[in-house]
Amino acid sequence: MSFDENVDSLRERLRAVETQLSERNQHVARLEKAIREMEQRVKEASESQQPAADLSEMEEALKRMVVRVSMILQAGKCMFMVYDQNTDELFAEKPAQGLDDEQIKTHRVKLDGTLSGECFRNNKPTILYDAETDERAQKEGLAALGIKNGVCVPLEVIKRDEETNKVLDSKVIGVLHVFNKRYGNIFMDEDVQLLERLARNTAAIINTAETYRQVVKEKDELVGTIQSLTMGLVMVNKAGRIIQMNNSAMRALGITKGDLLGGRTYDQIIKDERLQEVFRNALGSEGEVSEEVSLPDPETPELARVFQVQTAPVGTESGESIGTAAILNDITEIKNVDKMKTAFVSTVSHELRTPLTSIKGFISTLLQDTDGFYDNETRLEFYNIIDTECDRLRRLIDDLLNVSRIEAGNAVSMNIGEVDVPDMVKKVITIQNGSTYKKPNHTIVADLSPDIPAPVQADQDKLEQIFHNLVGNALKYSPKGGQVTVHGRMMSPEVVQFGISDQGMGIPAEHLAKMGERFHRVDNRDTREIGGTGIGLFLVKAFVEQHGGKMWIESEVGKGSTFFFSLPVTHSDEPVEGGSLASKVAG
Ligand code: ADP
Repeated sequence: MSFDENVDSLRERLRAVETQLSERNQHVARLEKAIREMEQRVKEASESQQPAADLSEMEEALKRMVVRVSMILQAGKCMFMVYDQNTDELFAEKPAQGLDDEQIKTHRVKLDGTLSGECFRNNKPTILYDAETDERAQKEGLAALGIKNGVCVPLEVIKRDEETNKVLDSKVIGVLHVFNKRYGNIFMDEDVQLLERLARNTAAIINTAETYRQVVKEKDELVGTIQSLTMGLVMVNKAGRIIQMNNSAMRALGITKGDLLGGRTYDQIIKDERLQEVFRNALGSEGEVSEEVSLPDPETPELARVFQVQTAPVGTESGESIGTAAILNDITEIKNVDKMKTAFVSTVSHELRTPLTSIKGFISTLLQDTDGFYDNETRLEFYNIIDTECDRLRRLIDDLLNVSRIEAGNAVSMNIGEVDVPDMVKKVITIQNGSTYKKPNHTIVADLSPDIPAPVQADQDKLEQIFHNLVGNALKYSPKGGQVTVHGRMMSPEVVQFGISDQGMGIPAEHLAKMGERFHRVDNRDTREIGGTGIGLFLVKAFVEQHGGKMWIESEVGKGSTFFFSLPVTHSDEPVEGGSLASKVAG
């Protein structure tokens, strides 16, 4: 080769080296620009405290971040992991690059012996050269995620003094991984330095995102708890806006989610004036207000429900008031029971006084008859009346005792024996034919299917009382007369079904579900004239359920009612829960 040729070749190589150098410089410049941009973003994010308006924006920012980190490090995959101090584990968090959501969701590792754990604990970066052979990577199951090599650096959040830039506090919150260097290369020390530099900035974003996620999660849990409360909860801020209202409160107040939109104040949304006043007072006084408020039942507006409304001021930790919270407790049932108890005491006193007055009257008459004015026959008639009234008193007292036993959760003892049903029904009809409620235009008939087994296993006295109470009521609540029928047929080979129907006043639909509750009476002009305690059906229901059966009612106001009950024909000695067996029988 001549000298000139040598010079040309050297020039050629120089030009090639210059081009390479310029390409390298451009690449470095691009990297530096990318880092500057990222640093700027991190700065903006940390300056604004609240880096994203919502979680999806936050996810987007993180997504952009992992894409950039992968790009800068020329990595096929990138993921970050966060430390969970409850379980002392590191877990991968979305978003990641080159790994799918399922892989991220399930990647959770202990600190001991794993690559991520070691990097986190030592607060030192580490290079993974071969995921197949590296024990730490094996323990973490990295190869199964398609990982060959990588770099792991700690994510350290550093708090600095704004003026002096001195480190005030630092905390390692997790690790940042890049995996699978592109073009078959492996990661080197320069990559580690670059990733460390990126991690310094990204740690702040991830930390903010984690805190944000935590806050959102806690808020969701709190809202979930508030929503699931059976009592209503309403929170109103100082400006009068409803900032929280759970489903129970919406139902009670007849408010839909749509009503809460549009930034209207509580007095534009809550229609009830008394309740508006409660909020006005609570917000005005910043104290606690407790009121009973009556609101129309959303399902049957003509009926009112009574709520105990209790408010309490809501403030921040620093004591600044932000509004008021009200709890709406539905006390309708308690009020009803209260009312029923009062009514019960007066009806029971009346029911007790009636036979006592009669007994006292006849005994006094007999005592005063010192000169034998009444003949033997009349005296016998008086003794019979006293005897009947004593029985009536005893029955009432027995009923009351049974109610209190059942209420106390003590099962009324059962005395199971063999019962001849047609015979029992005949006897009940005979006795009821002599009842004071039996009008001349009443007829009582039995309609029993011949396939009802003879005998049926039941408690003779209780079954008799069931029939007496139901037939007695059928007569009592059909004061204009009509036919009372005792039906009986097999529901299945094991269960017999009875129905006692009348052509009387019937029961309003809204009372049907409450029939059989203690002291529950339909209170209207018709029933008020007819005395009663409201414990007859309660006992019928309890006795039927004790037999493993179920009671139900069909009724139409002005047309009449049928009280049904089912009864298993055989009876095991196992203790049965009324309800569970009842539903089995009825089903
Ligand atoms: P009481 O008759 O002593 O009031 P019950 O427990 O036997 O108590 O009945 C409860 C209520 O159910 C009655 O007050 C009445 O309002 C209603 N009721 C019971 N049986 C009938 C019936 N056959 N027809 C219409 N209403 C009835």
